[in-house]
Amino acid sequence: MMGTVIEITWISTKKHTPVIENAYHAIHFVDSCMNPDRQDSELARINAHAGMGFFNVSPPTCRVIEEGLRIGKETGGAFDISLFPLIHLWGFDTKTPHLPQESSIQATLKKTGYDKVVCDPYHHRVMLKKTGMGLDLGGIAKGYAVDRAVSLLRAGGLKSFIVNAGGDLYCAGRHLSRPWLIGIQDPDHPRAVIAILSLSNRAVATSGDYENYFVKGGVRYHHILDPATGYPARGLRSVTVLSKTTMDADALATALFVMGKQRAIHWLVAHPNYAGVFVDTGLNIFASLSLKNLTKWAKRIKSHVTYF
Ligand code: ADP
Ligand code: MG
Repeated sequence: MMGTVIEITWISTKKHTPVIENAYHAIHFVDSCMNPDRQDSELARINAHAGMGFFNVSPPTCRVIEEGLRIGKETGGAFDISLFPLIHLWGFDTKTPHLPQESSIQATLKKTGYDKVVCDPYHHRVMLKKTGMGLDLGGIAKGYAVDRAVSLLRAGGLKSFIVNAGGDLYCAGRHLSRPWLIGIQDPDHPRAVIAILSLSNRAVATSGDYENYFVKGGVRYHHILDPATGYPARGLRSVTVLSKTTMDADALATALFVMGKQRAIHWLVAHPNYAGVFVDTGLNIFASLSLKNLTKWAKRIKSHVTYF
């Protein structure tokens, strides 16, 4: 799924093979619709239709675009599903990203902006108003795919399971009558964790500057771009968001990363349905107060944590 391995872990006394297979099929279907790298994907066809009026899309793609636009509005544009031309300019959709010319970035920003995307959920159609525009759903589609799998697993009778798309995950029920234990990765040591969360029936997603980046002139350029500047967002190393749905957790982790520490903390305080953990460039940690009783910090980390 968009370059990430998806794992389903489940606990049951029964055999559930067809249910699990259905869940994987659903994930593959989402990928075939929304992966921009696939020339035949629905998303590639939407992008090819930019500037030419409405384009009919499947209900799942329409749903993700609608939700992506909603999160764009709620985060003041920090989340923007219309960044495809910019991501392509940087080459973050390829194996060889590179630093573009300042003038190319400015020119490309004219072809982005979620306010130039129209989604008509009643007729399942989408319009990109200008030629050269394009959607990139890389910050939200994985979360949606996890949620699709979760509802199929539930409908198939499973109660205790985790669907994990490379760290963006949902944990359902409990693990042998205890909550599931989920680690938050250390941005500098991908195999180490800074904390363990105890979770049940919740989604978690993390966005970090260590997933996809290159270094030039001693500066790290990573794949989470600030739609306002056209450059990688600065200030944070990683953002973890907890939510009821994986789609929201996925998109909000990206959005709050772009907002930066101060704005992101304010946003979470004003939206108590979500909780978050931020790691800044000084490796200081800021966490929602609601997580205090659910979190076990690594010993070396404990003294760096501030709750909000
Ligand atoms: P990961 O794919 O590592 O889990 P994210 O969920 O944070 O990371 O998504 C990053 C992806 O989202 C990028 O690769 C790009 O496709 C897209 N993206 C980058 N910046 C933004 C942004 N400001 N708004 C929406 N999507 C973005
Ligand atoms: Mg994300």
